[in-house]
Amino acid sequence: MNFVNFHVETDSDGIALLTWDMPGRSMNVITPEVIGEIEAVVDHVAAEASIKGCVITSGKDNFSGGADLSMLQSVAAEYQKARQEKGEEEATKLFFERARRLSQVYRMLETCGKPFAIAINGTCVGGAFELALACHYRVISDDDKARVGLPEIKVGLFPGAGGTQRIARLMQTGDALQMLFKGEQIRPKAAKAMNLVHEIAPAGEIVAKAKTWITAGGKGVAPWDEKSFKLPSGKVFSAQGMMVWPAANAIYRRETHDNYPAAKAILHSVYEGLQLPFDLALRVESRWFAKILRSPEAAAMIRTLFLSMGELNKGARRPAHVPATAIKQVGILGAGFMGAGIAYVTASAGMDVVLIDQDQAAADKGKEICNKLISGQVLKGRATGADKEALLARIKPTADYTGLAGAGLVIEAVFEDRAVKAAVTQKAREVLQPGTIFASNTSTLPITSLAQTYGEPENFIGIHFFSPVEKMLLVEVILGEKTGDRALATALDYVRAIKKTPIVVHDSRGFYANRCVGNYIREGHIMLLAGVPPAMIENVAKMAGMPVGPLALNDEVALDLALKIIEAAKRDLGPAAIDPTQENLLKTMVVEHGRYGRKNSKGFYDYPAQGTKTLWPGLDAFQSTKLDPDKIDIAELKQRFLVTQAVEAARVIEEGVVTDPREADVGSIIGFGFAPFSGGTLSYIDGMGVANFVALCEQLRQKFGDRFAPPKILIDMAKADETFYGRFAERMKRVA
Ligand code: NAD
Repeated sequence: MNFVNFHVETDSDGIALLTWDMPGRSMNVITPEVIGEIEAVVDHVAAEASIKGCVITSGKDNFSGGADLSMLQSVAAEYQKARQEKGEEEATKLFFERARRLSQVYRMLETCGKPFAIAINGTCVGGAFELALACHYRVISDDDKARVGLPEIKVGLFPGAGGTQRIARLMQTGDALQMLFKGEQIRPKAAKAMNLVHEIAPAGEIVAKAKTWITAGGKGVAPWDEKSFKLPSGKVFSAQGMMVWPAANAIYRRETHDNYPAAKAILHSVYEGLQLPFDLALRVESRWFAKILRSPEAAAMIRTLFLSMGELNKGARRPAHVPATAIKQVGILGAGFMGAGIAYVTASAGMDVVLIDQDQAAADKGKEICNKLISGQVLKGRATGADKEALLARIKPTADYTGLAGAGLVIEAVFEDRAVKAAVTQKAREVLQPGTIFASNTSTLPITSLAQTYGEPENFIGIHFFSPVEKMLLVEVILGEKTGDRALATALDYVRAIKKTPIVVHDSRGFYANRCVGNYIREGHIMLLAGVPPAMIENVAKMAGMPVGPLALNDEVALDLALKIIEAAKRDLGPAAIDPTQENLLKTMVVEHGRYGRKNSKGFYDYPAQGTKTLWPGLDAFQSTKLDPDKIDIAELKQRFLVTQAVEAARVIEEGVVTDPREADVGSIIGFGFAPFSGGTLSYIDGMGVANFVALCEQLRQKFGDRFAPPKILIDMAKADETFYGRFAERMKRVA
């Protein structure tokens, strides 16, 4: 048989080996053509008497990353077109049939009567793992990269090709729901323990093991198609079932605040599907899938978290004419909290690090932080002892600047003090080769002014990390006035090497992310002073979609740092640039009460040595009036939290600080957790319509003040009925 994406060979035992190896792609993905070819293979295997069974494997380093999400997006666009041309009912029917085709092909495979085994190498996730679940036997290689999982929820979807039904029949319902809600990638040992795979084998033996299972008489019948099959958690309407479902509903609410339709659809699919025969259950799952595929949340999340993020990761903003740079050695100045984190991620990516501080002891302390981080990974089974040794061998702590001579890139992360930064920059300058790219991790000082001490402003740039460096995916790459293309390309190549996502930002106070975060925290402060119960502030922020409340976030950032930033803004821009009541609140907390935040276990919360944090009772003193919680408009509080950030993002675009909506959206979700279901700050505005957003801003402005005033760009866009993604479409054509 001749296929484009697969090759099939049948051996002397009558076992067909189907190797998935798409031409011109580094990773196999599910496309309409792939679905058609799998269907043809199933027909062939079922019809050919000489074939006993089939083993599916991959010809690439990984098995497959699942469905091509841009294909799913186009299916949703086709629905809108059909709706206009053929009407709602016809379009819905067509859409349903398209959306469930993969599920049907997998079910054909599962019930064709011949045994199918799958040999999984590397990553096998999403629709590809659903293919594995439809196979009767699953062997996974024990290599370091092997992972299975159903991560669809992370882009606002859920596994709609039988995934919810098969998972819920392989394990206890509670475990199945957790797996589907979390969307985590699972390593071989855990996958075996969860009943997701049958066997783990060395990479070179997976195909042979899968074949052996067939020749030993493996049956082509799924457990749920056996008469004797019993649901792992018993029937839904049983005493056992009732232990699961009330709790599952409560957990769903707690975790999602009902903001994610896909999560709700998982609950529905599993709850309804477990009460039905398997084929009907698949049909119910497909109905939910078709609904979710058309949801604005899925469209927004796929666009931002898959398509845009992928484009930025691949270097959409990289000046194409600069040849690729390969940095072997990075110099890091300052081995403190940030410097150590930067050393860790740099060495993890295989680069050598020269880690410099004021004296040897301070530099050693930075390396010790790296040691703790990698040791934690080893304890969790995410790295080996050999990984740890290799990583630590790459980091050379020293106080001697001559060690920097071979560095291809230097990143400065010393105290946030202009004079200290100037001194270390000059010292480095003396030993560095001309043309070495120098980056500062400053959070507040303008890059243009810091560049002056380096002497080569075209080779000076900002690489702004977020803390904790090892966890946060976003990096802001800051352009000074004279930063050249080679510095930008080098910075982007470096960010790519450490597997983080860059956004390119023009020099401005607070850059992008911290401006929005600052507004979010300020809104929490203002609510506190206005008499909103503190617990309500924190909980409503989470209901709005933020990962942590503004008061808890302020504790993490540190209250003294927030006060310093306000004082610096007042000094540099004048008293009108700050909110005196906020300054007063922070001053009282820090100066009067010595409450610095999590770092001294005292902030808006108390942090006991044991147990969970609790809101500090002393906050009461800041509330001379207290609002009646029953009379507070929760929807309005939620809006205030999101609008104050989104309106700042619009200002950032207006000022040309961020130029590409993809960067504003991606940066807002991975940088500060802005309500992911919205697709990010600008998608939030586009999603409700700019005119509606402007009206909302005006309404909030009248009630709460000028901080909600919509900038001119929004007013113009509302008049012209524009969206950010429409207005800046030209800029978004930049792809790697
Ligand atoms: P830190 O105080 O933990 O570390 C600063 C380090 O610089 C210390 O180890 C100190 O000994 C060293 N240092 C000071 N003077 C030096 C000199 N003359 N020569 C060599 N080393 C010297 O501070 P941090 O939180 O790591 O911040 C460092 C930089 O990163 C600052 O510019 C800060 O604004 C920026 N930043 C911080 C965060 C954050 O969340 N902490 C986030 C982004 C950016």
